[in-house]
Amino acid sequence: MEASKAKQIWAKACEFLSSAISADIYGRWIGVIEAVGDEAPGQLTLAVPNGFYQDWLEEHYLPMIRKALGASGFENVAISFVVDGARVAPEAPAARAAEEKEAPKRKPLKTCNLGMPLNTRHTFDNFVVGPSNTFAHAAALAVVEAPGRAYNPLFIHGGTGLGKTHLIQAMGQALLKRGKGSVCYTTCETFTNEFIQALQQHELAAFRRKYRHIDLLLIDDIHFLAGKESTQEEFFHTFNSLYENQKQIVMTSDRPVSEIANLQKRLVSRFEWGLVTEMEMADLETRVAILRRKRDQMSLQVPDKSLFFIAEHVRSNIRKLEGSLLRAASYASLTKKELSPETLEYLLRDTIEQENQTALTIEGIQRMVAEYYDIRLGDMTSKQRPQNIAFPRQVAMYLCREMTDQSLPSIGNAFGRNHATVLHAHRSVGSKMKTDASLRQTILSLQQRLGGVAAPS
Ligand code: ADP
Ligand code: MG
Repeated sequence: MEASKAKQIWAKACEFLSSAISADIYGRWIGVIEAVGDEAPGQLTLAVPNGFYQDWLEEHYLPMIRKALGASGFENVAISFVVDGARVAPEAPAARAAEEKEAPKRKPLKTCNLGMPLNTRHTFDNFVVGPSNTFAHAAALAVVEAPGRAYNPLFIHGGTGLGKTHLIQAMGQALLKRGKGSVCYTTCETFTNEFIQALQQHELAAFRRKYRHIDLLLIDDIHFLAGKESTQEEFFHTFNSLYENQKQIVMTSDRPVSEIANLQKRLVSRFEWGLVTEMEMADLETRVAILRRKRDQMSLQVPDKSLFFIAEHVRSNIRKLEGSLLRAASYASLTKKELSPETLEYLLRDTIEQENQTALTIEGIQRMVAEYYDIRLGDMTSKQRPQNIAFPRQVAMYLCREMTDQSLPSIGNAFGRNHATVLHAHRSVGSKMKTDASLRQTILSLQQRLGGVAAPS
């Protein structure tokens, strides 16, 4: 929409936002946003100082911004962010002078991408390579070199916050930069929603034209297909059409193919046709390197020893690692105080507590297993016995017995059962694992996730 209209709409939304959140937060996160004009009608483009802002806003404030727009009568406006180097984050006055000198003119996101916008910060340049992701990174580069030929499809899996979206978007940007045809980055959820909408509005032909005439399909979070019969059917045909025309397909998933529940067999086998690669949690050195990169990129005033502290304590998720850095940096810049270990411990207490819980307690295991099997935490203790709940519950008991020092009765207690049930579950899972390779894999991957957040020393 035009700049003047954008500004007008945004001003309305800001009125709402300023009354909904504290002045502090408003000043830091919302006050720095500027509405700018663009060519897409119905789209509100918001300029932010840097990629970190974009991420943070998208992750934490997007729903509220949508709500504010809705409350001001603009619920159908699509929001997109652009990074505008000339805008300056409040906490980085030092960066301002440097940036003003060579302030590039605002460059909107490149749009020969037929799918969702790519985060400009998710590039190969910004991706720190370490043992945990070397293989996935190399595979991604190989695909960018020879799309449709090297590895097709490329299937990248790993837990949340480990860099899958970053990597897959980096592939998209690299290909766009090289001008190697049309790229479509989308999430499986968006694909599903668009498909449903196309069905309802009798626009299937257009939907298929879109997805079957692209050179590179990047589809994020494909595990979302679990249990969605008709979307799976449609995706099967999309996949075949692209594959037959030697078009590249890249998928990410938070679990291995074999563990996506209710996924048609023919899709399972197709997903494994090309190259399957796993991303793991970064080791300490890589975590520090990631933090350093972020700090320097954003000219944050955080000393190395604080980065070490953060990297040592936040072990399970790179998104949390970044969030912790930002929190520490905000504190330092607002209070002008030094970041002592005590201060850091206090600032990051919630995150640190979560990390320790996941590693150590029965509840942490229950939570992880429930999340993994996509059931509710409450199902772990409920009296119900349908197989889809009973089995994950047994797996959780097995892991508690294997990975904690808790006694049989206290494990039983935590599941609302007695010690004999735990013993039975432990034996039963143990003996199934002997013959069932995929269960072995599941247990191993759960153990890695739990073990990746080792107990604090
Ligand atoms: P996932 O899609 O696996 O849940 P993301 O790709 O969204 O994870 O990554 C979470 C955050 O961590 C992003 O901000 C991303 O830029 C950052 N990140 C992850 N891995 C790396 C890496 N190797 N180097 C730099 N930043 C990373
Ligand atoms: Mg992701």
